[in-house]
Amino acid sequence: MAVSGKLATLRLPPLPTIGEIIKLFNLRAEKQLSQNFLLDMRLTDKIVRQAGSLRNAYVCEVGPGPGGLTRSILNAGAADLLVVEKDNRFIPSLKLLAEAAPGRVRIVQGDILTYRMDRGFKHDIAKKWEDEPPELHVIGNLPFSVSTPLIIKWLDCISTRSGPFAFGRTRLTLTFQKEVAERLTASTGSRQRSRLSVMAQTYCTVKNCFTIPGKAFVPKPEVDVGVVHFTPLAQPQIQQPFNLVEKLVKNVFQFRRKHCFRGLAMLFPEAHRTELTHELLRLSCVEPTLRPTELTIPHFRALSDAYGQLCSQSQGLISYEFREEQRLKRLHRKQGTPHHTEAPP
Ligand code: SAM
Repeated sequence: MAVSGKLATLRLPPLPTIGEIIKLFNLRAEKQLSQNFLLDMRLTDKIVRQAGSLRNAYVCEVGPGPGGLTRSILNAGAADLLVVEKDNRFIPSLKLLAEAAPGRVRIVQGDILTYRMDRGFKHDIAKKWEDEPPELHVIGNLPFSVSTPLIIKWLDCISTRSGPFAFGRTRLTLTFQKEVAERLTASTGSRQRSRLSVMAQTYCTVKNCFTIPGKAFVPKPEVDVGVVHFTPLAQPQIQQPFNLVEKLVKNVFQFRRKHCFRGLAMLFPEAHRTELTHELLRLSCVEPTLRPTELTIPHFRALSDAYGQLCSQSQGLISYEFREEQRLKRLHRKQGTPHHTEAPP
């Protein structure tokens, strides 16, 4: 098929292969930084296609490394590509790529966990939250140790419309360990249903696009990799503060094989645990004998609303942590001093 004139001008000129770049710049993968590179352009093109059309789009690529995925993003027609890379060894090879695509690549050396993406693009590209997503995409093949905390942080950013979401419902295309990708998209009743499934599906439409076998990476990681696409929902499924929802969901899943009553009970100080857990379940009309994996998003919505109501009636309840109570109890036992549980809420 002939490449249209405009897109042909956006394609990169011939460049050394990524394998040659790695040799040329002596870019050995750092095991401690979990660096695993993709050298096969058919695979990087396939990842980029999951984002949708990038023609004239704005893109932030996280962790470009030697630049395989970066080339695919440029070949797909991105007009403005901001790359954020932590490891300064990759900057010279990224500069070479920037020279091959004049005016289209901006390089930031930094940590994506602290980078202020709301300052990375002009605000005239922003769309209203309820409108279609903006022409801004975030794409990345990050180490697994970064991608999981990053998605939790970005789900929080969706709830406050900050960071990448200061521009509207920015779409994300990211890689995860295959099992994490399965958890992110797991539905009610499935074995992989977890805290991540509920949190991600509360704020986004999540799609597990395809799996890349570990052997496609250099060096080969121990695990396979899943490519996941997120589109923030115009209306989150739960209308309570992120911290409240996260705390409730985390408590439920810490006893994932027990009835949900068990994990929910840990939201309350020991002295009033049983009565308040019954009250929570009564307010939310949730069966105490359901298992965490059997709870639907509407169940979590009802539980979060009821917990929000109880927190508004009882100062300090939202900051109660049962592990902290246990720690203090152990301490008092050791010191032989009496331990007082919190006053009735
Ligand atoms: N994107 C390249 C590819 O697909 O071949 C490299 C992938 S490698 C798994 C992950 C890359 O993310 C490395 O270049 C690493 O230095 C970078 N990285 C790791 N942690 C990062 C962070 N916190 N912020 C930005 N980049 C990071």
